Amino acid sequence: MSPIGVFGGTFDPVHVGHLRPALELQQQLGLQRVHFIPCHIPPHRGEPHATAEQRCEMLRLAIEKEPGFVLDRRELERDGPSYMVETLKSLRAEYGGQRPLFLLIGGDAFLGLPDWYHWQEIIGLAHIVVAHRPGWRVAGEALPLPLRELLAQHPIREAGQLASAPAGGVWLQTVTPFDISATAIRRMIEGGESANFLLPQPVWDYIRHQNLYRSE
Ligand code: ATP
Repeated sequence: MSPIGVFGGTFDPVHVGHLRPALELQQQLGLQRVHFIPCHIPPHRGEPHATAEQRCEMLRLAIEKEPGFVLDRRELERDGPSYMVETLKSLRAEYGGQRPLFLLIGGDAFLGLPDWYHWQEIIGLAHIVVAHRPGWRVAGEALPLPLRELLAQHPIREAGQLASAPAGGVWLQTVTPFDISATAIRRMIEGGESANFLLPQPVWDYIRHQNLYRSE
């Protein structure tokens, strides 16, 4: 059974630092599809700048031509904060107990994992695949103790091992580094600079057309 990727985020807006690593992970790990899941109410940050519908539309425009990338609206259809553990439970119910689920997260998100709601349940529901992100060290002594323990308790020798179990492994994967964030893109636009080429062309066109992220 081919593994399924789960990629959650605020996507405010989606950019190449999300898309290219997701594609590389899909190819490197043999994922049948990747669910892109925009969050409704992010538990750990302020309100997104674009509306849920605008973030969704930007994602749709970004991934519509990539077979195997799917826009998954389940967090938008759920009331309350978007807890990943709930999202994984609903995917698990859909795909059954045996299908390998890979939660894809960037290095910064991994460092914040111990603050996630019921985070210790996640490893029972999915593998955790961490994509290196420039500026964030996800290995060594600087890693917070709960994460060092998580890595020690769920050792994986090589990526190929992951697909033989439905969940339970933690894997750090190198991807092409993009030193880009949605925050930097929003600041650029707010400051009147162009963000062209940091996002797919249709997304950049949409942002301009909707006059998004501009200061009033
Ligand atoms: P913001 O700047 O608004 O916090 P962001 O660019 O970090 O946004 P999110 O939507 O918060 O984007 O991130 C969704 C997921 O994508 C997270 O797991 C995050 O770690 C990952 N991610 C975002 N940008 C990158 C990048 N440049 N390289 C690798 N992973 C990334």
